Amino acid sequence: MKMNLCYLFVEGMLVLLTITAALAGTQTVRGHQAALLIIDVQDCFLPRGSLAVSDGDQVIPVINKLREDFKDAFSLVVLSQDWHCPDHVSFASQHPGFNPYSVVNLTYNADGALCHGASVPSNFPYAVDCSNQPGSKLRVVQQTLWPDHCIRNVTSGGTSAEFSPLLTMKDSDVVVRKGYLCGVDSYSAFFDNGGFRQTELNGILKEHNIDLVVVTGLALDYCVYYTSKDAHALGYKVLTVTDAARGVAPGSTEAALEDMKNIGIELITAADLEGALQDPSKGANPGSFSFYLFVALGAVLTAFLVFKS
Ligand SMILES: [Zn+2]
Repeated sequence: MKMNLCYLFVEGMLVLLTITAALAGTQTVRGHQAALLIIDVQDCFLPRGSLAVSDGDQVIPVINKLREDFKDAFSLVVLSQDWHCPDHVSFASQHPGFNPYSVVNLTYNADGALCHGASVPSNFPYAVDCSNQPGSKLRVVQQTLWPDHCIRNVTSGGTSAEFSPLLTMKDSDVVVRKGYLCGVDSYSAFFDNGGFRQTELNGILKEHNIDLVVVTGLALDYCVYYTSKDAHALGYKVLTVTDAARGVAPGSTEAALEDMKNIGIELITAADLEGALQDPSKGANPGSFSFYLFVALGAVLTAFLVFKS
């Protein structure tokens, strides 16, 4: 009788633990709540776009497959959207005498307002006079000047801000716009380039209790890089998927990869994602070696108890 009670107790516990592990595994990745971040996969950055990234379209099938293969692992999918004014400060067209891809210094006051200066003409509508402000209150931000791109509400042509029609999108996806202030650029999907203001992205991730982000998209050496860095600085575990991203230029891409690696961001390929999501310190997921080991041990223990009784 005593042995039967012992058997029933252990058997019951094993069933409960197995069901708990199975249910947990469908919602979390080894105890993490994961989000997929798809950065700026928009017409303007794709072939025929005004700021086309070489082979930028090749990220689309990789990202779509990640969504499909890991649909139970991602609690949330966020798409960032570069969303500029037609006369945005990052456009070379707004800086007389400067060509695309040249780099200028932009000055901002303590409130984050753009100041008139050498590369910002006095008639630029989104700048203010900072001549009466002490230099210690001003902040200089380096800005690469780009061809006009990703203009808000433009839905066709090279400057279209639309997401690629080939990209899988769902009603549950969250879109976070960035770069919408005319006087400051925003490579990161979290903060503008001066660090003056943040988007809603961090708040959305916190609302969903996300603690791990998988970063993909365009461009690897700018928006993917700065989004990954800010996510890491904000305390998220960051996996940046290099074959689900492409860079603007080889030199800056190499430097971005090196920097990300040095600060502890995990650089992986899509094929590595399943392994990279493993964290042996967390619970067991269905399909994993430890899950099957757990079930096997339970079966052996149960058989032993049945045999003894
Ligand atoms: Zn932009």
